[in-house]
Amino acid sequence: MKRSVPFIRLAEALEKVRATSSKNEKVALVAEVLKGLQPRDAEVAARIVSGRSSERGSRDEAQVGYSTLLDVLRGVTGASESDVSKVYLRHGDLGEVAEELLGEKKEQTLFSEELTLAAVDDAFARLRSTKGKGSSAAKRGILKSLLLAATPLEGKYIVKVLTGEMRTGMVSGLLEEAIADAYGLSEEAAARGHMLLGDMGTFARVAASGKAAEVQMVPFRPVNFMLAEPFATAAEIAEHFGRQVYAEYKYDGIRAQVHRSGRVVKVFSRRLEEITSTFPEIVAAFEDAKGEFILDGEAVPFAGGRPLPFQLLQRRLRRMEGFEEAAKNAPVTYFAFDVLLLDGRETVGLPLSERRELLRSIVAGTEAKTAETFDVKTEEEVQAAFRRSRDLGYEGLVVKDPESLYGMGKRGSGWVKLKEELDTLDVVIVAAEYGHGKRAGVISDYTFAVRDGDELKTVGKAYSGLTDTEIGEMTRRLKEITVADHGYRREVKPEIVVEVAFDSIQRSERHDGGYALRFPRIKRIRTDKGPADIDDLVKVEKIFDGQKLKLDARRAQDSSAP
Ligand code: AMP
Repeated sequence: MKRSVPFIRLAEALEKVRATSSKNEKVALVAEVLKGLQPRDAEVAARIVSGRSSERGSRDEAQVGYSTLLDVLRGVTGASESDVSKVYLRHGDLGEVAEELLGEKKEQTLFSEELTLAAVDDAFARLRSTKGKGSSAAKRGILKSLLLAATPLEGKYIVKVLTGEMRTGMVSGLLEEAIADAYGLSEEAAARGHMLLGDMGTFARVAASGKAAEVQMVPFRPVNFMLAEPFATAAEIAEHFGRQVYAEYKYDGIRAQVHRSGRVVKVFSRRLEEITSTFPEIVAAFEDAKGEFILDGEAVPFAGGRPLPFQLLQRRLRRMEGFEEAAKNAPVTYFAFDVLLLDGRETVGLPLSERRELLRSIVAGTEAKTAETFDVKTEEEVQAAFRRSRDLGYEGLVVKDPESLYGMGKRGSGWVKLKEELDTLDVVIVAAEYGHGKRAGVISDYTFAVRDGDELKTVGKAYSGLTDTEIGEMTRRLKEITVADHGYRREVKPEIVVEVAFDSIQRSERHDGGYALRFPRIKRIRTDKGPADIDDLVKVEKIFDGQKLKLDARRAQDSSAP
């Protein structure tokens, strides 16, 4: 077997990828690195470019806390706690901190042994498998030898991967393109390979071995989910499609892929993690069904013909109660809305109208349900369906083109969603403060940010929306991910995603995003989403502009009133 290539080649390419804003250049740089790599190197490289140290969907992450990383960096470089804090405050990124500290303090002789992609991956694997008692000292040891062997630039990217903060702008569509270019795949073949394998590393390994065309959809290997594009109004939706389409209720639960083969049923999350044990009702519902299949749908807390508050499900997801108690307090019904595979045949290439017929026959006779669907064409019909959905306690609509294919992992305009009149934003918490009065002693004020290219920009601070129990839990987690502790205020690793509702958006000098949400309240903690899934500044600007239009229209109306 060929020797694994030096890690520095990848680190140097990533540095250039970060520096350029040209998408074509990003693709070319990564393709250049991938070209000619042996399959295992290709896997490691693509996975790292995608910002991960482990396979997508795997529960075992390398999981090194910020404080451990900081500690090891101090040990390796001899920097003091206050040096590190100062450098962190300057960069706001632990990868950059690693680069600076390693550059300043390390003896050059330490670089003599060249790090290879395989060596980095081995270290990640050892970090993942080090668990339980005494693991923290062992992890420190692994990390220390890895960083000692790394050049400053390599250290930067190792730390960036371990903190999940790659931010090179190499979004999955571009990486998919780079893999296609490196291994001579067509755009369709690449899209298909990626969607079926889910994980970029695995996809690159298979592509590098020349086997991308042979990949099949099989039960128990989750595939990427189709996503819906947000639309602001019923009018836009009617115009977008311009013909009769399906409007489905937007169920407020957890997206879940159900796989069944030979009486075995498994459930996977949007992040491709197996969550079967969380939902015994779904297993029970499909155990006696007929055939081998993969379904897409939503696990919804539901009783007496009505949806229950989503919060009930959250308790269950966080395993705050036993399954029996959970199933009593928040019984779940699976609302299926698509079928991807049936009896050995992929159905993703069939139009939705046909997939729906197949879906109905699978779900009939089980305890699960199919999503309720209405034919709509005009703005009024979309609006009426939306009202009905809201009146029944659902979240809005997902409107789908009957002709559309199932486009995995892509936000295709075949599906569009309509939520509340004023949209919510998914944001990540970057700093937090202790509360006052009855909230003294708990961390209850959260500063949050949206994405702006590769950076995070703050757009507000939320105090309300969580229950006392949730605040207690938040306090514990925020302490764990603290990066800089300034007494009453803490900067934290951007990890916890929350969905915030708000009254309006204003321009603001106080937040570096340039906007502030007015009266933000946390609607829910999005445990199903990671920092890569949050909204961006463009969306904030769009809502801001939209509300200005509405305001202008109202003003115009007011001034023309008699
Ligand atoms: P959002 O979470 O706001 O990005 O909205 C998209 C999500 O709505 C999907 O990922 C699903 O979890 C959920 N959803 C609920 N009902 C449906 C439906 N009928 N069709 C598609 N997605 C749905």
